[in-house]
Amino acid sequence: MTVFLNNNNHESTKQWSIFLILSEFLRTMDLQSKRIKSIPESATLAMAAKAREMKQKGIDVISLSLGEPDFKTPDFIIEGAIEALHSGKYFAYPPVNGYLDLREAISKKFKDDNDLDYTPDQIVVSNGAKQSISNVFMALLDPGDEVIVFTPYWVSYTAMILLAEGVPVFIEGNIENDFKASAEQLEKAITSKTKAVIFSSPCNPTGSVFTKEELALLAEVLKKYPDIIIISDEIYELINFSGAHASIGTMEGMLDRTVTVNGFSKGYAMTGWRVGYIGAPGWLAKAANKMQGQMTSANSSIAQRAAFTALTGSKESSGEMARAYLNRRALVHDLLSDIPGIQVNMPQGAFYFFPNVKEYFGKGPINNATDFCMYMLEEARVSLVTGEAFGSPECIRLSYAASEEELKTSIGRIKESLEKIY
Ligand code: PMP
Ligand code: GLU
Repeated sequence: MTVFLNNNNHESTKQWSIFLILSEFLRTMDLQSKRIKSIPESATLAMAAKAREMKQKGIDVISLSLGEPDFKTPDFIIEGAIEALHSGKYFAYPPVNGYLDLREAISKKFKDDNDLDYTPDQIVVSNGAKQSISNVFMALLDPGDEVIVFTPYWVSYTAMILLAEGVPVFIEGNIENDFKASAEQLEKAITSKTKAVIFSSPCNPTGSVFTKEELALLAEVLKKYPDIIIISDEIYELINFSGAHASIGTMEGMLDRTVTVNGFSKGYAMTGWRVGYIGAPGWLAKAANKMQGQMTSANSSIAQRAAFTALTGSKESSGEMARAYLNRRALVHDLLSDIPGIQVNMPQGAFYFFPNVKEYFGKGPINNATDFCMYMLEEARVSLVTGEAFGSPECIRLSYAASEEELKTSIGRIKESLEKIY
């Protein structure tokens, strides 16, 4: 190999080390399954890790990349968990689908808040809504089955579909139609292989919210295809600025084929506790339960007790957090609208903005949304997530689950950095 013919000793040692690293990388890549190689790393988590690493090195980076409340879990929930710990009752494996009283409380919540009738047997509590959704795909999909994914989509849907050997089929919304794909697009995408449809409302990454009327139009199409399962991800239910939250499961004929996904991470600031759940048709809840029983046994006992306390306690702190997000939304909208070349809409829920930044492609070092985010990380020291991870390559995601001061400073820095190249 020519690289080793170099006479310079230092240079050849360096080249030899690079060769060793590369060959070890190739060897270990070869050992990995095709399954794991078929999916990328979670872009949201990867960007958050990068920002954390920079902070540890003493770099003053502001992270607007992770979709995670910046609030602490409310005290009454923490107290509930402490009491459960001291009670000495919750040390053993919980039932795979979750404690009965928690599932009863979830069943009541579905009825009271969403007008959805799921019995406790139709509920499965998991390690975050992430596992809930993954269980459902693993329980539903055979190789080649298609899942229609409303785009922009939450980053992990496609990876989970691929892991279950399904095929994601995308229907796209854009900034002009508030990022909401239509009933006509849905109908066009349906084939004999369509097994399921998935969307989130309020949506991560766009903050868009489907109205009752829009959901009714989707339901009208789905009524004609009774074997298609609807997965409605409602994890941002409590952060909805558009009024009453609507669930597609309430539409005529939908409940017995709708999986309603929810959880505690966002509305109760409990991301680290890892509690999510589904209400599902009985057969599918059983299948998801079977999957979970083989994979993780159950969700942590103490986290479930915290979730039970959250659900049976006051919603006041969730309301306060939602009001804070509402104020920040106005602030961020004003700040972003003031940056030339950035197209921004007004999200109706969640805590994200999803601006279109294509005007900057071809300027300075930026040729796409990923370059845009890298430029921001290096130049403005602000971490964002590329729209490519959500199926929208012209956009970037900014999470405003950060303090007003951080938002002002970071968006000020973004503006200054863009002025240098615009
Ligand atoms: N769905 C959406 C739309 C999300 O943004 C998230 C983010 N975490 C999840 C599901 C998963 O949430 P968790 O696993 O924290 O309950
Ligand atoms: N859902 C959040 C996000 O989109 C948390 C990270 C993740 O679970 O991927 O940023």
